[in-house]
Amino acid sequence: MKRDLDCVFCKIVAGELGCIPVYEDANTLGFMDINPIAPGHTLIIPKHHAETLYDMPDDLLAHVVATTKRVASALRKALNPDGVSLIQANGKGAAQSVLHFHMHIVPRTLGDDLKINWPVVAGDMDEIREVAARVIQALD
Ligand SMILES: [Zn+2]
Repeated sequence: MKRDLDCVFCKIVAGELGCIPVYEDANTLGFMDINPIAPGHTLIIPKHHAETLYDMPDDLLAHVVATTKRVASALRKALNPDGVSLIQANGKGAAQSVLHFHMHIVPRTLGDDLKINWPVVAGDMDEIREVAARVIQALD
């Protein structure tokens, strides 16, 4: 599995940086975004370091999408949002903040008027942990 020593997400995968995990298997990791744009904002990453969509092996990409579906289903069950958006950015022009492929799962509320290039604002860690526990409970 490829690793980039300077990559924040690779450090999370290696356990060198903490996260609030909701899902893990051999190839993917799901954890709460600590700068959430909405309650339940979750990231799904491959454990293998690949910067963008273009660097992702097809089979690993398929695995990330399957994990995304599984966690999004748990978010839907746990939080009952009006909808869920998947957002995946490639390159600085798309506002990709961490250069390790990641899928955002964002629970939506009717009228929330979320902007795609959202500002990074630290979330309430207790609230994030509480939502993570509900998502883990809802995993099938
Ligand atoms: Zn990485």
